[in-house]
Amino acid sequence: MNRPLVAILSGAGVSTDSGIPDYRGPNGLWRTDPEAEKLVTYEYYMGDPEIRRRAWLMRRQSGALRAEPNAAHRAVAELERAGVPVRVLTQNVDGLHQLAGMPARKVLELHGSARSVVCTGCHARGPMDEVLARVDAGEDDPACLTCGGILKPATVMFGERLDPVVLGEAAAITKACQIFIAVGSSLQVQPAAGLTGVAADHGARLIIVNAEPTPYDEIADEVVREPIGTALPRLVHSLRTEGAS
Ligand code: ZN
Repeated sequence: MNRPLVAILSGAGVSTDSGIPDYRGPNGLWRTDPEAEKLVTYEYYMGDPEIRRRAWLMRRQSGALRAEPNAAHRAVAELERAGVPVRVLTQNVDGLHQLAGMPARKVLELHGSARSVVCTGCHARGPMDEVLARVDAGEDDPACLTCGGILKPATVMFGERLDPVVLGEAAAITKACQIFIAVGSSLQVQPAAGLTGVAADHGARLIIVNAEPTPYDEIADEVVREPIGTALPRLVHSLRTEGAS
């Protein structure tokens, strides 16, 4: 039999066990501290060198690049290794699904990646750790080495649009999947909320794993409230068993 395509929408809750707080959610740090929000708001970042200096220091101190994948990331990667067709649509920018072993081409990063930088002038990309090494060496607002332009993380800042190509691919996967698992997301912001609705409209089995209620619980086929670190491995195990039968 054909194995069902599993789409996994992963939100901030998937990475909290790796020590990465929810910055971006409705109650996240960026949204509750106006000064912190400026550091990740495109208009302020581009217009004020002092904001950029603070943003580079914050990135250098956050330690987010040193975070390790947790049981939830590993469970998703194991499902893929078991031969189940899996695609991850993630709201996270930490790259931990890939570090856990998910092939990069099967992970759509809806909000970009904090592991890379992009030049706002020539659009050249490079590794974040190389730029942070320049900050360590004393550059407080490192510029693009190719064109001198302003560098920013390859994440979608507030005030920036999501990548329409990534969004289009995410929508296509959502429409094509037979199982849609929304995990660790409040499903209150776009595109997560919209994708979940699309999955349900297209007849996917909808499974929601989240500590708090979401607006989609009522239409879900299954709602799991237990901690993600145990819920996701168990869910993945049952999907593997189903797929083998
Ligand atoms: Zn450049």
